[in-house]
Amino acid sequence: MGWLRLHAGTGRNLNRYRPSAPYTRGVGKPSSLEPPRPPERSCDVLVVGAGPSGSAAAYWLAREGLDVVVVEKKRFPRAKTCGDGLTPRAVRQLAEMGVEPELSASYHRYQGLRSVAFGRALEMAWPEHPEFPSYGYTITRHDLDGLVAENAVKAGAELWQNAEAVEPLSSAEGGGRRPARGARVLDRDRGSISAVSARVVVVADGSLTRVGRALGTERVKRWPQGMAIRGYFSSPRHDDLFIESHLDIRDSGGNVVPGYGWIFPLGDGRVNAGIGLLSTSARWKGVNTTKLLEQFVAYAPRSWGLSPTTSLGPPTGGRLPMGLAVGPRAGPDWLVVGDAAGSINPFNGEGIGYGYETGRMAAEVAAEALDSGDLALLRAYEDRLQQEYGRYYAVARAFVKVISNPRVMRPCVGTGMYVRPVMEWMLRIMANLTRPELAGPPEALYRALAGASKLAELRDAVTAVP
Ligand SMILES: Cc1cc2nc3c(=O)[nH]c(=O)nc-3n(C[C@H](O)[C@H](O)[C@H](O)COP(=O)(O)OP(=O)(O)OC[C@H]3O[C@@H](n4cnc5c(N)ncnc54)[C@H](O)[C@@H]3O)c2cc1C
Repeated sequence: MGWLRLHAGTGRNLNRYRPSAPYTRGVGKPSSLEPPRPPERSCDVLVVGAGPSGSAAAYWLAREGLDVVVVEKKRFPRAKTCGDGLTPRAVRQLAEMGVEPELSASYHRYQGLRSVAFGRALEMAWPEHPEFPSYGYTITRHDLDGLVAENAVKAGAELWQNAEAVEPLSSAEGGGRRPARGARVLDRDRGSISAVSARVVVVADGSLTRVGRALGTERVKRWPQGMAIRGYFSSPRHDDLFIESHLDIRDSGGNVVPGYGWIFPLGDGRVNAGIGLLSTSARWKGVNTTKLLEQFVAYAPRSWGLSPTTSLGPPTGGRLPMGLAVGPRAGPDWLVVGDAAGSINPFNGEGIGYGYETGRMAAEVAAEALDSGDLALLRAYEDRLQQEYGRYYAVARAFVKVISNPRVMRPCVGTGMYVRPVMEWMLRIMANLTRPELAGPPEALYRALAGASKLAELRDAVTAVP
């Protein structure tokens, strides 16, 4: 394969990527080595899903000494459609969970973002910030999610793999904010069902969130949603120190489409290339994302070497529920985290770091509620979310609605690309790395955007909490 040759002389990560690399970590062991699951199990907290949000919740809950069962319907390692980009926000959470040494030892660390639009390119390093590192990593979800789940197991959580929560233990009658009480869990290897009862359930089952919906969560349909598709390519620039984002992707008619294209170097011979779109576009419904990705691959800078012949497999896509558009996020005995809560940042489509953060917040609130014996305290989770993201996401939702209009986007981005400081301030804002305690230009620009969004979206964006 071409990628083998491309590894020559790169120094790091040699031979790490193999199309079907065996996974040898503890969480990847075959089911024959796991004991059969009991028909009944009770625990303090049942976490449904071991993606970023579920594994983070499980880690922080286990650290509190709680009895935590995590059920994951797949077996690690498992692929998950993603851009594989970790920003400084995500890296901070991984560092605080103790996973960063694994990342720095074997995965690609990058310095910042290169924005490309209307024939210009601007390289911008991640800013210095007292709370966040000034670098990111790229790592496939195939590798990342197993590492973080394993870390939760090391902290004391019990992980059931190939174990699917099929329905809450409580009866379906009543609808609305009914309690969960736990879940019936299918062992997908053996076909048996276990009743896992729990004092609290953390719903971390991703964007489709069947369990969340069974408990009464819904998405606010008029708020923006993302849709994205990605593929892997072998590339001579696989160890580039900047991730790249293209702000002027076009459809077959040459029209600028609201959204962006990305090329994220993985440092192991491959890059992850994809496109993301927003539902705020009038043309959203008719867009063929596979075709759009093909077009992006065709006009991406040649130096990346993207082409059908360097493609490493068919692209896959998914939905990005964003801006806290899914709720309620706290029920009588359950909390909803990550994509299941619509926690993706609308400004940039980042969801891994927000999965870690919301998982951690839910763990902290659940631990307090369980400690006091008063589950009414679970409501504090919604307050935490609003405090952390409410205003920022309202601004982001309003911003993406406005910028989706090509008549606004074209002059704004076109001019911005000539004014480096403005683009650097926007990078800070869009990656949620401003410093509210300062009165610097990015903070002033954010306040201006917030003011404008308040005027434009006052009722919808600020008061409509689902
Ligand atoms: C194409 C694309 C590109 C993206 N690129 C990026 C990026 O570069 N950076 C970034 O930060 N974000 C990116 N995102 C967003 C990111 O992937 C998500 O925000 C993130 O995965 C959310 O984590 P989560 O834990 O909430 O959900 P998930 O990662 O979806 O995890 C949910 C887990 O729950 C399991 N599960 C589901 N139902 C059940 C059940 N009933 N019982 C047991 N287990 C269950 C699933 O198997 C899965 O493992 C991208 C998304 C897409 C679609």
